[in-house]
Amino acid sequence: MEQNTIDSSRTGDLPRILRDVWGYDSFRPHQQAAMEAVLARRDSLVVLPTGGGKSICFQAPALLRHGTALVVSPLISLMRDQVAQLVQTGARAGCLHTGQPPDERRAVLRQLDEGELKLLYLSPERLAMDDLPALLGGAPISFVAIDEAHCISSWGHDFRPEYRQIARIRELYPDVDLHGYTATATREVSQDIARQLFLRDPVILRGSFDRPNLFYSVKPKRGADGLLIDLVRRHRGEPGIVYCISRRETERVAEVLVKAGFKAVAYHAGLDSGTRIKNQEDFVADRVDIVVATVAFGMGINKPDVRFVAHMGMPSSMENFQQESGRAGRDGLPSECMLLYSMQDLMIWKKITSDAPPELQKIGARKLGMIYDWCSGMECRRRGLLRYFGEDYPRENCGRCDACTGGIHPVPGAHVIAQKILSSIVRQGDGYSASHTADVLSGKKGKKIVDAGHDQISTHGILADHDRDHLLDWIQQLCDRSCIATGDGGVLAVTDAGWDILRGRNTGILLERLASAKPSPTMDVDALTPLEEKDFELLRVLRKKIAERAKVPPYVIFGDVTLRDIVRRRPKDLVEFSRVKGVGRKKLEAYGQVFLEALWGGGGASFTPGGSRPSAAGGRTEKYKVEMELLRQKYSIEEVVEKSGRSASTVERCHLKMVREGEIDDISRWVPVHLEQEIREMIDTTGGKPLKPIHEALGGRASYHQIRLVQEVMKN
Ligand code: ADP
Ligand code: ZN
Repeated sequence: MEQNTIDSSRTGDLPRILRDVWGYDSFRPHQQAAMEAVLARRDSLVVLPTGGGKSICFQAPALLRHGTALVVSPLISLMRDQVAQLVQTGARAGCLHTGQPPDERRAVLRQLDEGELKLLYLSPERLAMDDLPALLGGAPISFVAIDEAHCISSWGHDFRPEYRQIARIRELYPDVDLHGYTATATREVSQDIARQLFLRDPVILRGSFDRPNLFYSVKPKRGADGLLIDLVRRHRGEPGIVYCISRRETERVAEVLVKAGFKAVAYHAGLDSGTRIKNQEDFVADRVDIVVATVAFGMGINKPDVRFVAHMGMPSSMENFQQESGRAGRDGLPSECMLLYSMQDLMIWKKITSDAPPELQKIGARKLGMIYDWCSGMECRRRGLLRYFGEDYPRENCGRCDACTGGIHPVPGAHVIAQKILSSIVRQGDGYSASHTADVLSGKKGKKIVDAGHDQISTHGILADHDRDHLLDWIQQLCDRSCIATGDGGVLAVTDAGWDILRGRNTGILLERLASAKPSPTMDVDALTPLEEKDFELLRVLRKKIAERAKVPPYVIFGDVTLRDIVRRRPKDLVEFSRVKGVGRKKLEAYGQVFLEALWGGGGASFTPGGSRPSAAGGRTEKYKVEMELLRQKYSIEEVVEKSGRSASTVERCHLKMVREGEIDDISRWVPVHLEQEIREMIDTTGGKPLKPIHEALGGRASYHQIRLVQEVMKN
């Protein structure tokens, strides 16, 4: 009991811990209440959306309570990620899991034994083993936190039988309080979680599931690759996930992106585990920008700076969409979610689930129907999504979805247009596609149309004053609403529902969609200026370098929120740096100085800590700091040109200088070894000047820049 009063009296310390350890100035919604429940040793269940900041709800009080908190997490990767983040903030945390190197394991147990550990992460199986008290060697346990708590409920979307064993902790430690954390939305599931965990009179906290920083757009799947490339271009160099329904599609789409010049890889369960792990790690470490994946991807990653999620096909339920799209923008910065859907997707899912027991198939079909209606509807996306999860969205216009930003308009006279389209299909007779129908309606007189006599039917040219693209879109929408059936080779036929429209029994409406619906730059009220953007890129490169050395993901060093705050505030010294969002005491000590130096480009020696803004010493060096850093990181010339906004000749000059001055000694990234050998031989025979004959003798395989690079290396 005494312990209880001591812990509770520390609620006043929470804001200090938040600032000192994490560098945050305020609580997010429900965080304070969630932390207070832990300090008061009241069981609790906290339901907050992805990115809502659940982890800190148990991490902060763990630092204040006496003893070690046990944290259960479903995946080793998640555990290690959280521990890495905690260690970076200076909190004492460790994890125990299978496959861990023995010395690492011994170190964790030693820390535990010495009463050093404030948080110990464990798998659910490990937690439930009878020998847990022996393993912990009598170390005092403060409380138990269960992350991803929905895994205990078979009603949730990710039931894990091993989670059922967690409840046994009550036998092993009857007095310890239990706290569950989940992003699973429905009330039913949260009730079930509380029951399965045997929570005692828990404090239940539920946040809003709205993710205000996400922009939603949903479009019929036509010209899908083009739409995707548009999206990816808007987010060049930023991390993103593209979901496809089939494995084959992930590989195809990844190839399309690579061909278009993006750093993309595929990810699906059919790849060998080595490739899968590598692709995931490359994504987490910012070595590739885009992962094109089946739903097998995502659960184990915590990457907070995913700037877009695209669905190349419709997910099988609103829950899945919420989860997958929810991986965008966990750090709260503006991010984009685009979904492309079609009737075929619905069929594919039905086929995939056709082996399931009838009961489940029925539920599955209902869920599919609901998401399909949401996709093909024209209501605010956000409102529809929240309503599905039992929440009322209070505003008329969310300002961050295609429906609310002019992306969708009802078409005036939609009913008559539908009748004209359907009637044309009937008059054309069997065997014609959407594209042919659109040509007839727009009054084209191609050979195929004339041969078929379709320039003579009454619907020829009847919708000539509409865009052909719109016509195709409307035909698709009539297919979506089952008014038109598509057969082999995309051949159209009018269905019973279509005849109802023709006979005026049903007056359905059509939608017009403007493919341009996308977040406008003005929506990002916090957008960086081009200059800040450049500094941001520079700091990103530095962050990546530090992360590589520390063998942790870049976001563990600093999140994008922090980098943005640095470039905006431009702190002059460590005192100012300490006020940056996300900079706690430990990170200030570890990284404050290097980031200040990078920001001001002073180069180590000229920097005076605590002094005023360093002069533009370094002159030339400072001017080229972005490209130099990128070149040091072995980016290609094209990439450096793109990222730095400099001309190719400037970048090349800078590059040559770095090689001349020995700052870069290995040029194999820019000149393949065998080519270098050939160039060397040519230089040896021609004496190196002029360059043109060398270039020509090699049949243009070596650029002038490559020849100059080799010359510099040879001089060295
Ligand atoms: P969840 O587990 O709910 O998906 P996380 O715990 O991963 O969310 O937190 C999401 C992001 O929000 C992280 O980058 C975290 O550091 C940040 N965050 C959490 N709490 C706060 C806060 N009070 N102020 C600012 N950022 C916060
Ligand atoms: Zn909206």
